[in-house]
Amino acid sequence: MRRKLAAGNWKMNGLKASLSEIEALIAAHPGPDCDVLICPPTTLISAAAALARGRIAIGGQNCHPRLSGAYTGGISAQMLKDAGASHVILGHSERRADRYESDEVVHAKATTAISEGLVAIICVGETERERDRGATLDVISSQLKGSLPLNASGAYLVIAYEPIWAIGSGRTPTLEQIAEVHDFMRAEMVKRLGDDGDEIRLLYGGSVKPSNAADIFAVPNVDGALVGGASLLASDFGAIVAALEAA
Ligand code: PEP
Repeated sequence: MRRKLAAGNWKMNGLKASLSEIEALIAAHPGPDCDVLICPPTTLISAAAALARGRIAIGGQNCHPRLSGAYTGGISAQMLKDAGASHVILGHSERRADRYESDEVVHAKATTAISEGLVAIICVGETERERDRGATLDVISSQLKGSLPLNASGAYLVIAYEPIWAIGSGRTPTLEQIAEVHDFMRAEMVKRLGDDGDEIRLLYGGSVKPSNAADIFAVPNVDGALVGGASLLASDFGAIVAALEAA
């Protein structure tokens, strides 16, 4: 039985004062009926984890493939863990595009993250042009093949389907389009991992808001959401958590 997951990606947003949003989220959802995760910027992970005390999970937004060494500015999986993170987002399209992160790099980072005991949330998704030319499932298939590490398991891997054109745009695929991709990803995971593939949580991400969350969560094989903009305010993210609890 897969436990649903509402994950918030704060991206490069948030100062110490923003921790009050985490406080408010926990106060409004003291014992949520789903997993709740906030991935704040690295500077806030320690403080967020101390505040959350395990009531919600705290995660990173990236990590280095190596555990330590001469990599100025790098953050390792071990450091994230040490700061109190339990999850890490990898292969977000903003990093794939802006930092030229290839599937191979995502694969290396995920391998290290999982071996350090972090849950890796690997993002995949097509561009609008790829969707328009009917290549969505080919793109997803190739990203899954290239990015998923050999040590992937139901407990330590989450996949987020994030159509790039839906991120931060206010646009979302139709429910049928989401269902098509999630069914495909489920079948791929079962092909790869057998019964354990059925345990991997598949999140949808891209302009999830309180107003569309319930419809998206009703789609089969959608086990939650990865939320950007609407995770910054406890009131919005709390409404998404409530929709997931009710799904
Ligand atoms: C994201 O960047 O992972 C995301 C889903 O952003 P938004 O919810 O703002 O579209």
